[in-house]
Amino acid sequence: MNLNRLLRKNIRRLKGYSAEEIPCRVKLDANESPYGFPYLLEGLEKTVSTNRYPDPEGRELKRAAARRWRLRPGNILIGNGSDEIIYYLITAFGGPVLYPTPTFSMYGIISRILGEEGIGVPLDRSFDLDTEGMTEVIREARPKLIFLSSPNNPTGNCFSSERIFRIIKASRGIVVVDEAYQPFSSRWGMLRLLEEFDNLAIMRTLSKIGFASLRVGFLLARKELIDAVDRVRLPFNVNALSQAVAVEVMKRYGEIEKALRVISRERERLYRELERIDGVTPYPSEANFILFKVRGASDVHEGLLSRGVLVRDMRGSVRDCLRVTVGTPEENRLFLDSLREVLSRDRRR
Ligand SMILES: *Cc1c(COP(=O)(O)O)cnc(C)c1O
Repeated sequence: MNLNRLLRKNIRRLKGYSAEEIPCRVKLDANESPYGFPYLLEGLEKTVSTNRYPDPEGRELKRAAARRWRLRPGNILIGNGSDEIIYYLITAFGGPVLYPTPTFSMYGIISRILGEEGIGVPLDRSFDLDTEGMTEVIREARPKLIFLSSPNNPTGNCFSSERIFRIIKASRGIVVVDEAYQPFSSRWGMLRLLEEFDNLAIMRTLSKIGFASLRVGFLLARKELIDAVDRVRLPFNVNALSQAVAVEVMKRYGEIEKALRVISRERERLYRELERIDGVTPYPSEANFILFKVRGASDVHEGLLSRGVLVRDMRGSVRDCLRVTVGTPEENRLFLDSLREVLSRDRRR
């Protein structure tokens, strides 16, 4: 039986997303936080019933999140990670889907899975939005959805807010500003502009701030937009354990923020150290990772791995570049020492 002929055409040539587990000592490849909060799991047995379905609407979590972001619960949709929200957005509105490149790969991947056209417009030389290029596509292709990751993964910078406004104003479709890394940024996010632009939506996630295992993401927008996306949401998309922990995260955000400040400070230190290494060019970052250019990036990636340090190879999207997640001070030291070793070994050859 030829399964391939049964598959929908747009799925035939797709490969599954490979998030393969590479064994390593120091894991700096996935922009996770090095700090967990195991004490937030205590007492869950008193509030979560394993035999009952979770609250399909996540009401308590929406209330807690609304308080934290000064919104109404009706302005919030909860997803099984923001990946699921991207899936729901494209399912609900369809394409074309516009995004700058390089950026978070899921915008393009999910477009393809759903058989919708994804259009990538390259960022300019300083990794900011090419507003000319993007508005041209907006005029000609009329994208239903535009995804702007700011701070952007993998480049680390925020797009200039003036350029983001221009895109929002030029678009008749929905502009989704993905603020997965906003908690690490020194710049203003777009939250306070939700009232001003009715085609603006914002995504937030718990994945980068210490809770990647929960799979909890948020879509924040005006109520009509949230209700529209909610039509395609599966009934119990966020499990009860994740909802319960996420409520605690929202209520006790001050404790989380302390860890975020440590990470942002470490990022600055890591950046300065990288700058001092011959042959390495780091790019300024407002996120919890740093993109850097290095000679022989592929060999450097291998060399680091042979020393137990895993970083992300970004050569597929940015030439000669690797991306390192900010870890604990100890992990960052191990990364820097290994990098210096790998590079000096190369120089001797
Ligand atoms: C990591 C990341 C996410 C997170 O997705 P989740 O599904 O919430 O884990 C979203 N957007 C960007 C740009 C990311 O880098």
